[in-house]
Amino acid sequence: MTDTYDYDLFVIGAGSGGVRAARLTALGGKRVAIAEEFRVGGTCVIRGCVPKKFMVMASDFAHQFHTAEGYGWTVEASFDWPKFLEAKDVEIARLSGIYAANLGKAGVDLVHGRAVLKDAHTVEVTHRDGGEPRTYTAEKILIATGGRPWMPEGLPGIEHAITSEEAFHLPELPRRIMIAGGGYIAVEFAGIFAGLGVETTLIYRGPNILRGFDDDVRAHLAGEIEKRGIKVVLGCQHRSIEKTETGLVSHLENGMTLETDVIMFATGRVPYVKDLGLETAGVDLNDKGAIVVDQLSKTTAENIWAIGDVTDRMNLTPVAIREAVAFHETVYKDNPQHFDYEAVATAVFSQPPVGVVGLSESEARHSCSAGVDVYLTRFRPMKYAFTGSDERVLMKLVVDAASQKVVGVHIVGPEAPEMIQLAAIAVKAGLTKAQWDATCAVHPTMAEELVTLKEKQSPTMSAG
Ligand code: NDP
Repeated sequence: MTDTYDYDLFVIGAGSGGVRAARLTALGGKRVAIAEEFRVGGTCVIRGCVPKKFMVMASDFAHQFHTAEGYGWTVEASFDWPKFLEAKDVEIARLSGIYAANLGKAGVDLVHGRAVLKDAHTVEVTHRDGGEPRTYTAEKILIATGGRPWMPEGLPGIEHAITSEEAFHLPELPRRIMIAGGGYIAVEFAGIFAGLGVETTLIYRGPNILRGFDDDVRAHLAGEIEKRGIKVVLGCQHRSIEKTETGLVSHLENGMTLETDVIMFATGRVPYVKDLGLETAGVDLNDKGAIVVDQLSKTTAENIWAIGDVTDRMNLTPVAIREAVAFHETVYKDNPQHFDYEAVATAVFSQPPVGVVGLSESEARHSCSAGVDVYLTRFRPMKYAFTGSDERVLMKLVVDAASQKVVGVHIVGPEAPEMIQLAAIAVKAGLTKAQWDATCAVHPTMAEELVTLKEKQSPTMSAG
């Protein structure tokens, strides 16, 4: 770069994507600054994946205690919500500190404050601790501001509802909660609260939860979470919310009226672009309010790139990190790279959890011209043999009939997220069903079912 600018690269947003891009670029010898208005770590570390997983683990103990009783243990358990919150917040602060320290070690200047674009090379930062805003110039700018929860703003009484962000800090555990939505966050938080003993109702407008997932997974999970005590109300939305002396009353579109203590909306997240000054820099948005980027994450402005949830491509932490690496390779190493969004495994930390990689059966039926072979099993995990539980694991392989490649793997059950990480290697590598079958089983495990599935489902047996 020339000394015309203060920095070679200015990154806006110190979440997973922004931090990775800033560190790589600084380690490559460039002068880099990163602005963060809240805490270093972004959604994943501060108010997303990490604290959510701690909550899932806290909540899952209830289920484990129940299982333990079947094995002869006597468990007298009680749960201390404030104690848990304190432990969680200490750990989140530690992780955020590590992120900040790693930026420092790489030589990145961390600017604590809200950054706004003034033109394509100029960023104005209003510092967190007050004082006059300061202006920085940079040859290149990377926007990685992530997303924010979205709620239906016009809904009467919506001001009484919370989002996942507040759910991480509830001053006390409610007796009752109602969660709106049927996606990742709704299903995950329903499991968390139900496990912690909160009377939990999930209200979802569609015919079944987790739209976009394989239909067998959706049906299986809906049944399993009901077994865990979650009341699932489908095909229904809130019409209004009313605060009363005893709690919150939700009036539903189907005429039902339900009283609860907390109403949480998990109705999606939107790109965080508000008042960023994008228009002054020539950065366009699409009709969903996400920053328009090309395959190499370049925006409509010549020297500005964007990665992560603010681009609304595939809103997952590891994807944002890969986009950051691809950005760095492309822009600073003369090695144009784009992330390959095919066969990205994902997990829903519901209880039981879900692990998925590749195509659902219905997607595969659309894209595999010679049709698909489906292998599916449902079984009771060995661990529950003594509990009287009728919980079942679902495992499903979707195979392209012509090539015999396994194009989709779907698991609902304990440790599904751990299993799917490994299955994803085989799917990404394009291995065939015969190659899966040639792999010797590990016994006794749940995962062995994945390499011992012999019987094809007849087309009518599967939910598609
Ligand atoms: P999702 O997009 O997954 O789900 C949003 C839910 O809200 C859907 O069920 C949707 O219904 C419903 N909804 C949308 N608009 C309305 C409305 N106006 N009224 C009623 N319901 C509505 O979003 P989440 O908030 O759950 O999560 C955001 C993203 O964050 C996820 O897509 C995922 O990419 C990421 N994430 C990943 C996690 C993980 O990897 N484990 C965990 C949490 C989040 P419909 O289906 O009918 O549109």
